[in-house]
Amino acid sequence: MATGDLITATQNTWCPGCGNFSIEHSLKEVIVGLIGDGTPAENIVLVTGIGCHAKMADYLGVNSFYSLHGRTVPVASGIKIANPELTVICCVGDGDCYGEGLEHLLFAAKRNVGITVIVHNNRVYGLTTGQYTPTSPLGFSGKSTPHGTIEHPINPLALLLSSGAGWVGRGYTRRLPQLKSLIDAAIRHPGFAALDLLQICATFYNRTACYNTHTYDLIDHNPSRFEDAYTKAREWDYTSEGPIPLGIFYDRNLPCFEDQVRESAALSTDTTQAISRILDRHR
Ligand code: SF4
Repeated sequence: MATGDLITATQNTWCPGCGNFSIEHSLKEVIVGLIGDGTPAENIVLVTGIGCHAKMADYLGVNSFYSLHGRTVPVASGIKIANPELTVICCVGDGDCYGEGLEHLLFAAKRNVGITVIVHNNRVYGLTTGQYTPTSPLGFSGKSTPHGTIEHPINPLALLLSSGAGWVGRGYTRRLPQLKSLIDAAIRHPGFAALDLLQICATFYNRTACYNTHTYDLIDHNPSRFEDAYTKAREWDYTSEGPIPLGIFYDRNLPCFEDQVRESAALSTDTTQAISRILDRHR
């Protein structure tokens, strides 16, 4: 299979220069690699929310599901728990997932559901033409805040780490080789993985000059050490220019929720059968 085999007939309506193109291209290459390594194409499921990012479900030729706004993660979690053999990938927006869907995200991290959450973090509601999101910087001026926001942004990486996420990373849509390798690593991680992607919104919040100047790669960083990951996650506050670290912040294998659900279901079945046998003996 080649990336061209994953192109659908749907007309692309993203703006020229949108960072979503890089994510789509990289995800296609990663999916082709997964299939080449033996993952059946029919076992790959893409779940999206609502927003510009969500059109990925129309443009990528894999099994996909458009969920409600902010509800990508619980839909994906249900799919994974029902069939752990599936590779479940979520494409979500920052407003979609860090706003409407934040509780779902943190609980999936807490439970370690084996899904991959790729956040197209353009730090603005692009589809609705420029309102501020939870990661817009303090003072962001847009349609809903013409005089600038008076709220500090959240730090999603610090929140995810403190919620128990086993894999946390950050990429940038203009760093293509690293973008692809981060998406690949996140999907191949066996438990919950969250990848925050600094995505250029060419129309409503173009941070290309800032990100080109202030991003740097995490080197000499041990992703198995929680304290180091947390310190690096807090290095950039999503308002200042930078420095902005990119790479894998945290990588640790933990028991997956879906496996534990199966084990406890098997246990309860055994227990039920054992109790019936005992009751039968007393009849
Ligand atoms: Fe991309 Fe922004 Fe256009 Fe949406 S509005 S397609 S995020 S450039």
